[in-house]
Amino acid sequence: MRLPEFEYFEPAYLDEAIDLLEKHGNNCTVIAGGTELVVALKQRLQNPKYLISLDKVPSLKNITDKGDSISIGPLCTLEEIIKSKLIEEKLPALRKAAWEVGSPLLRSVATIGGNICLNTRCRFYNQSLFWRSSREACFKAGGGVCHVAKKESRCNSAFAADLPPVLISYGAKIKLRGAKGTRVLPLESFYTGDGRFPNELLKGSREILTEIEIPLPQGNYAGSYHKFRLRGSIDFPLVGAAVRLKINEEKFCEEARIILTGVGPAPVEAGEACAQLAGQKLSADLISAVAETAVSEIRPFKTTLVSPRYHQKMARVVMAEALREAGGFK
Ligand SMILES: Cc1cc2nc3c(=O)[nH]c(=O)nc-3n(C[C@H](O)[C@H](O)[C@H](O)COP(=O)(O)OP(=O)(O)OC[C@H]3O[C@@H](n4cnc5c(N)ncnc54)[C@H](O)[C@@H]3O)c2cc1C
Repeated sequence: MRLPEFEYFEPAYLDEAIDLLEKHGNNCTVIAGGTELVVALKQRLQNPKYLISLDKVPSLKNITDKGDSISIGPLCTLEEIIKSKLIEEKLPALRKAAWEVGSPLLRSVATIGGNICLNTRCRFYNQSLFWRSSREACFKAGGGVCHVAKKESRCNSAFAADLPPVLISYGAKIKLRGAKGTRVLPLESFYTGDGRFPNELLKGSREILTEIEIPLPQGNYAGSYHKFRLRGSIDFPLVGAAVRLKINEEKFCEEARIILTGVGPAPVEAGEACAQLAGQKLSADLISAVAETAVSEIRPFKTTLVSPRYHQKMARVVMAEALREAGGFK
């Protein structure tokens, strides 16, 4: 498949990139590693006239220890994240999630920023133009139907990036910069829950993700990330579960966050499951019950080749694994 024609810019400064984005408006897309975007261009899922590469902007590539937090530039590749001693020591679940993405070759160019900004996916949408043209356009493609849930009046494509659930469980905030200034928001509020325009940038905010900041609270915190995919490697998560627990010496859970990916148009926080854990002593029985509750909080559609029932079954398995690891049971 050939790429469409576009004009390519490589600004050396962030301000220059923001000016270009403002000037060319909705005809323009930012590119980082290109591992998602190039496929989308070839499949004509996006047709920008202008591409702005962030690769030459050095200020977006640092990993910095700020004492009570770690700051990560969005242009850091997943390989750099995996190799960072700081991340290995302070944010092991993030390192694991990065390691679970795609293949070594892909991770050497794919960035954390691109992973956060990943578009939602669906088996009826992520196809060639030729394949898609045999059916009525779905909501995601600007049409008026959802092929995976005919009675639904909105797009149900799934968000299936590996790093955001872990980042949300750590309480990460992101910085978005545009012509009107900079804003900081908790990562979870970046996602809209609307499969058609799943994040602030895809909604058309004309901003650039410039920093990810992850707090490092004091206390006995443990985190984990488990993923299930259909192929053994080089595959998106069918479901991924990030768990972060604060546990005291008697194994009582003081705080809990459980975030799932792959099961809806945005990362899903299993709030009821977290409430069930709060103040309780961790045990194998409690973990099974909590995994069951978390599954009742999700509603996956048939956006991949598996049935929603199987999807939920695997979510329960992955969730229990993640809880067991974070709780020190293996
Ligand atoms: C074969 C294959 C397997 C894959 N497997 C996985 C997997 O297992 N898990 C997974 O999570 N992903 C997977 N991916 C998706 C993708 O490779 C990764 O999510 C990757 O991290 C995307 O980063 P990138 O730098 O290549 O993004 P790009 O393709 O450059 O960009 C992706 C999107 O983010 C936007 N963007 C990027 N950076 C910024 C920024 N700083 N500011 C504003 N917008 C920005 C772009 O405009 C674009 O919309 C896979 C892709 C392929 C092709």
